[in-house]
Amino acid sequence: MINIALIAHDGKKPEMVSFVNSNKEFLKKATIYATGTTGGHIEKEGYNVTKLLSGPKGGDAQIAAMLATGDLDLIIFFRDPLDKHPHEPDVQMLLRLCDVHNIPLATNPKSAHYILKGIEATL
Ligand code: PGA
Repeated sequence: MINIALIAHDGKKPEMVSFVNSNKEFLKKATIYATGTTGGHIEKEGYNVTKLLSGPKGGDAQIAAMLATGDLDLIIFFRDPLDKHPHEPDVQMLLRLCDVHNIPLATNPKSAHYILKGIEATL
């Protein structure tokens, strides 16, 4: 069972909904964690999701802590590069810790697509 974290900034939530609907077969077999608001959107699509705090309230930091302790296998974080975010330091921490711990990270849908394909090929 793969443990996956899904996060989307507000401007990217429609792309996250589209992504989860395009990858049902893969995601139904995964354990999904998500930041609060993103998780609510994903739940509405019929998935079981463990929802953490909303990103600006510490949800990104919670996900960063989980990946640092080996509890996550993949992070999909659709960032909005055209908007400002009050929790940018948390976002940077999360991205940094992915590299510290060698955890796969996709920050846009096409990268996420290829990572899922790569994981499927190794299962
Ligand atoms: P949200 O957080 O899912 O609670 O909106 C995402 C983020 O902004 O990091």
